[in-house]
Amino acid sequence: MPLRALIFDVDGTLAETEEVHRAAFNATFQDFSLPWHWDIALYGQLLKITGGKERLRHYAQGIGAHLDEALIAQLHARKNTLYGALIARGGAPLRSGVMDLISRAQQQGLRLAIATTTSRVNVDVLLRANLGADADRCFDVIVAGDEVARKKPAPDAYLKALADLGLPAAACMAFEDSANGLAAGLAAGLRVVVTPGIYTQHEDFSKAALVLPDLSQFSLSMDI
Ligand SMILES: [Mg+2]
Repeated sequence: MPLRALIFDVDGTLAETEEVHRAAFNATFQDFSLPWHWDIALYGQLLKITGGKERLRHYAQGIGAHLDEALIAQLHARKNTLYGALIARGGAPLRSGVMDLISRAQQQGLRLAIATTTSRVNVDVLLRANLGADADRCFDVIVAGDEVARKKPAPDAYLKALADLGLPAAACMAFEDSANGLAAGLAAGLRVVVTPGIYTQHEDFSKAALVLPDLSQFSLSMDI
């Protein structure tokens, strides 16, 4: 079946956003006078929990702190505001090869979609910072974390993206940077190209269709 659409993960795949997320979490803890600081090693562990609220809840439980749901929501909202400000200032440029691939895909008439566990506001800020005013027209379909019941590694975000595109998995290809994302794409029946990121280089990508250091080495004519 001919390729009709590309579906992208956001964090780590389009841009190395995780360091910006980490900085925003730490600034939020300071704002709320919480004596917490997530360093790179700890954040690498916490990234196994997808979704910002879930990550906060998991961390608090792990250190025996009680966070009620209202406070989790406040922390998450503040963190997203800080994250947006950092991203809007150009804190997370697109990874090598991403812009070229988007351009080539558009030239070939392929449709573009996003399937992410991050929230819609984060997606919009990142796209506008890096793609300018055309960002909203670039992607036909954007499925964000708040729109599906189960986050990755469940296939929900990809299944919704496929449904919204009106295409079968066999006509699409997914791009991911993590084992969680790879599992989600595979569970939706997709071919998955993986470009490992800072936090995911050690993960198992043996079931990926292709693993590359970055998308500058990917060609749409590759037979995968
Ligand atoms: Mg990712």
